[in-house]
Amino acid sequence: MEIILTGTGSPIPDPNRAGPSTLVKAGNTHILVDAGRGAVMRMAGAGSMPPLLSAVLITHLHSDHVCALNDVITTHWVMTQGATLSIYGPPGIAQFVERQMFALEPDVGYRIAHHDELTAAPSVEVTELEPGASFAVNDVQVAVAATEHAPVRPTIGFRLEHEGVVAAVVGDTLACDGVDELARDADVYVQTVIRDDLVKLIPNEMIQDILDYHSSVVDAAQTAARVGARRLMLTHLVPAPMPEQYPEWKAIAAEYFDGEIVIGDDLTAVTLTAESE
Ligand SMILES: [Zn+2]
Ligand SMILES: [Zn+2]
Repeated sequence: MEIILTGTGSPIPDPNRAGPSTLVKAGNTHILVDAGRGAVMRMAGAGSMPPLLSAVLITHLHSDHVCALNDVITTHWVMTQGATLSIYGPPGIAQFVERQMFALEPDVGYRIAHHDELTAAPSVEVTELEPGASFAVNDVQVAVAATEHAPVRPTIGFRLEHEGVVAAVVGDTLACDGVDELARDADVYVQTVIRDDLVKLIPNEMIQDILDYHSSVVDAAQTAARVGARRLMLTHLVPAPMPEQYPEWKAIAAEYFDGEIVIGDDLTAVTLTAESE
């Protein structure tokens, strides 16, 4: 299984970081978790494309995590000429996708009028997931748990298992029981994080608001240690560090977690094999 960060940014625009998104490749099964700004462009950089997706999993409906979903839907539709795209997410995802389809109507009409190959609107199959749900995407087993990102509700995270390796891919959340469950003994635990010590120094009220619903680097490292994860992969980095600051970020996590720590850049990848452990 390969985990590729297709976006390590946040709502704050950054020329080097697309919005939050992670691609999981398990054999021929490609699964996209969240679809932040620029996700489709970064998928191309990761050797994938929307038509190769077996599923899109959404953690929550914050705009930074879903703003490229319309691009995924449209590109999948045009490139497959009508195959069905499977989208999974928390309750509310069905209405969100329905409204996206409404917004896409003019484009859909133009393309159907212009291309004989396109005869119908994009086909999407949307599944709303409750915590505790589990399902298969081809031969990848996916388990779902609740995360804590109030007042955003509901929010969920995912545990993906394929050929004996496990990746926990979690969206914005405080440390909580649900994350512990997803990341327990995982080969990699991918967590969106902020540096609360640095965010506290930014004199802006809206920025201060983010402190109460995100994991800090320390929270993520403590979770990784508590549940016995092998690797911790940090993404959605706020404030976005320059490469020369990565050792400092790593050192903070390493105070609590002695496994491998990966500070994510866009297209940073880890390959997980059952034999390597
Ligand atoms: Zn976010
Ligand atoms: Zn969020």
